[in-house]
Order: sequence, then C-alpha cells, then structure tokens
Amino acid sequence: MIALSLDRIAEITESRLSGPARPADTVTGPVVVDSRQELSGGLFVALNGERADGHDFAAAAVEAGAVAVLGSRPVDGVPVLVVDGGDPAVLDALGRLAAHVLGELPSADVIGVTGSAGKTTTKDLLAQALRRLGPTIAPPGSFNNEIGHPLTVLRADPATRFLALEVSARGIGHIAHLCRIAPPRIGVVLNVGSAHLGEFGSKEAIATAKGELVEALPPAGEGGVAVLNADDPAVRAMAARTAARVVTFSDGSEDADVYAREVDLDATGRVRFRLHVGGASARVRLALVGGHQLHNALAVAAVAAELGMGIDDIADLLGSAGAVSRWRMEVGERADGVTVVNDAYNANPESMAAALRTLVAMAAGRRRVAVLGEMAELGEGHQEAHEAVGRLVAESGTELLVVVGAEAGPIGDGARNSPHWTAEREIVAVPDAAHAAEALRDRLLPGDVVIVKGSRVVALEQVAEQLMAVE
Ligand code: ATP
Ligand code: MG
Repeated sequence: MIALSLDRIAEITESRLSGPARPADTVTGPVVVDSRQELSGGLFVALNGERADGHDFAAAAVEAGAVAVLGSRPVDGVPVLVVDGGDPAVLDALGRLAAHVLGELPSADVIGVTGSAGKTTTKDLLAQALRRLGPTIAPPGSFNNEIGHPLTVLRADPATRFLALEVSARGIGHIAHLCRIAPPRIGVVLNVGSAHLGEFGSKEAIATAKGELVEALPPAGEGGVAVLNADDPAVRAMAARTAARVVTFSDGSEDADVYAREVDLDATGRVRFRLHVGGASARVRLALVGGHQLHNALAVAAVAAELGMGIDDIADLLGSAGAVSRWRMEVGERADGVTVVNDAYNANPESMAAALRTLVAMAAGRRRVAVLGEMAELGEGHQEAHEAVGRLVAESGTELLVVVGAEAGPIGDGARNSPHWTAEREIVAVPDAAHAAEALRDRLLPGDVVIVKGSRVVALEQVAEQLMAVE
C-alpha cells in the first residue's frame, strides 16, 4: 500500500468520513476484509457477508490498529469512510482505491492470466519466474474475484515490480471490470474450454468473455503484450481483438514465437521437451506433474522471455518450480507402492481428459485406478460430457473406476457401453467421498496408480487424503 490520508481516500472512493475520523490520519498498512488479520496502520473493509456483518467488527479492527474502516454505514465511536449502497458500493469503492494505487505505481507491471483451465497453476508458476526478475505480488490460490483482486493490488508499494493475477470470468463484462481495477500490461490466454458452460450458454460466449483480457491491454506502442495459445483456435482468434503485440506459444508449431518440440510424458507424469524461444533452445523437464502443464509452462516461458529472462534461466525455472496451490496433481507415494494423484481441486471435460492421459503415462506397466466425481456447472451438456469422460476411461485401460455421486453416474455408463471396456474390469458407484475411500480399501493392490478428480463441490481430496493415511 502507498500512504494515503483519510480525506484523500474519501475523495478517491467517493465516501464521507464519519465518527471520530481525522482527515489527515494516514493509512500506510494493509487493506483487509478479515479483522483477524494484521491491521496495524491499515484500512478495514466492512462487508455484510452471509454469516457476519463486518461492521460488527469495526470497533475491534480499530482497536487492533486499523486507522479507519471503509463501510456502508456509520458505526458509533469508530472512524468510518461511508459509501451508500451496501456491499456493491463498498466493493466499487475498494476497486477505485486499488486502481488509484496502481496508477501511482508506474513501475509495477500487471500480468493477467485467464483461460478455462490452468489459471492458478500458471499464475503460481509465473510468480516464481517473476520473483527472479524483481519484487512480485501474487495472491494465494484462486483469490481472484471482486474482493480478492483489489485486495491483492492494494498490497503493492513503490518497490513492487510485478503483479501476477488470475482473472476469471463468470459472465460477460466481468474480466473487463477486473481489468479496470488492475489494468494489465501483459495478458495471457491459456484456453477456451467448457468450464462454466452452464452459466455462459455457449463456447463462443466464453471466448468473448475471456477475450476481454486482451482487449484491455495497452497498444503495442505502449508496451502491451498479448500471450496467446496458438494451439487453441478460439484463443488464436483473439489476436484480432487486441491492439497489443501478439506473442504465441505452441506445443509443436514452429510458427509460434515460443514452442516445444520432442515432447514426451515420462513415467513420473512429467513432460520433457525442447523449448524454443527466438532462435535459441534448451532441454526442459517440468517439475510440475501432468501432460497439461506443457501449455501452462510455455505460457510462462513466453512471458519470462518477453521480460528479458534468458532461455537457460527459463529452463532452470521450469525444471525446479513446483506447485504452490494444493490439490492439483499432487502426487503421493504409499509404502505399499500405491501412487495417489490428487487432482481433486476441480474438474471439467478438458482437465478430465488431461488427467486421464497423465494416468496412462504414469501407470506404464501398472494397474490404473480412477476415482471420478461430477464435473459441475456444465448445463445442458452434462450427461453427454460425463459419458464422454467414461469412454476415455475405457480407452485409457483403467481397471477400476470408482464413480462418486449420482451426478457422476453417466461416467460409469459411458465406460460400460464403450467398445473398449472389458468384462474383467470393475466399475463401482458410490454416493460420496467417504464411501469411495471405503470401497477402495479392499480393492487397491500394491503398485496401483490412482487418480482422484472431480469438481470442487464433490471435495474428493478427502478420498485422496484417506488413501494416503493408510499405513
Ligand atoms: P478455477 O477456474 O477453478 O480457478 P483454474 O483455471 O485456476 O481453475 P487450476 O486451478 O490451475 O485452474 O487447475 C485446475 C485443474 O485444471 C487442474 O487440477 C488440472 O487438472 C487442470 N488443468 C490445469 N491446467 C490445464 C490446462 N492447461 N489444460 C487442461 N487442464 C488443465
Ligand atoms: Mg483458479
């Protein structure tokens, strides 16, 4: 945060000072929504959440060191910057404050990452690359909505060189809004898939929403750079929607600016390849697990190269940077030789396919087990998408398929009805995560490779954790 007086904050946020606030008092510290966090010299943002009203904690926040509170109503005896209009007005005010702070920090570059799958992973990997180049701010996990986004930006100070932000869309106009709070100089688009198809209605609408990131970039002459996945036609087409310079990445095409050749997925689930950037090349073996990590890594390589990192440094980074956020292809090895791959953070058709490909690579000569839950938010295509995953399970040679929850039922049907399914393989349907762990207890054999994956609502990390807890 940069130091700002209360009357300056009032001006920026279009709020009015109430209670015992002194206009000249200065906020220097953190801006937070949770009064249990460090507050010294900071600003406490009171939101009226589902479970609690932040205004009830306003007095405690000031006692704990907050200079003032930003909220939607005055609180007796507490300095509050008040905006009218409830939480939406408070969030608006917070967004304006963030945009102002960023405007005062011209040496801080925002790099935004969007796509249907891989945003958090790529943002985490990118943050590890950027830290080699200068002071970097990146939020933990998927802290990227209209609350998380401004709070992250407000952590920036004059020393900040980079902000790595995940930008996601739940509707048209959402990314454009986030980009007004934190205008990106570099925008990365990973893919356009069918995650959140239910909310958007069509894949075209998803592409329209994701493309708002590249529309928000400054023109090439002012340093704007759009980093696009050349292997995804819907992403490639976004080149026409930006005034920024376009840099492309690909897992094979030499026409791209950054590309991989000699790609191979090894038995530990890691991708090995030769990375090509601007005429130079280097061998890379990713530290991250999963075939899908190749595109995430190429996107990071493209940004790092753009910012002046040499190819050997990039290769070293990609070969050593591991996962930061949990439940994404986390690999556990049990004493009995069972390998558990916990990819339970989320699931959609593309990431299910990617996970099954990785299972095949990791289980060369070993038994394959898949524990799969529902892919939520798919809308009308729900049943067909689940059956398609079932067919991939059949083709992958998976010997034991555990289908978790009634919503995931069509995965079992898709597998059973596939011509690739064979009678000696087993499909078990269970109602929930607890029963899945139970069903696996007697069925797992030493040496099995188990992949665990489903949408957030199914919370299958419980299965993975229980499997790992077995002696
Ligand atoms: P969310 O929209 O839920 O925040 P996200 O885009 O941030 O998701 P991650 O959290 O990085 O995505 O990864 C979620 C899952 O998507 C991973 O567990 C993995 O299975 C899969 N995944 C990650 N990257 C890719 C990719 N490039 N292509 C396909 N699937 C991917
Ligand atoms: Mg995310």
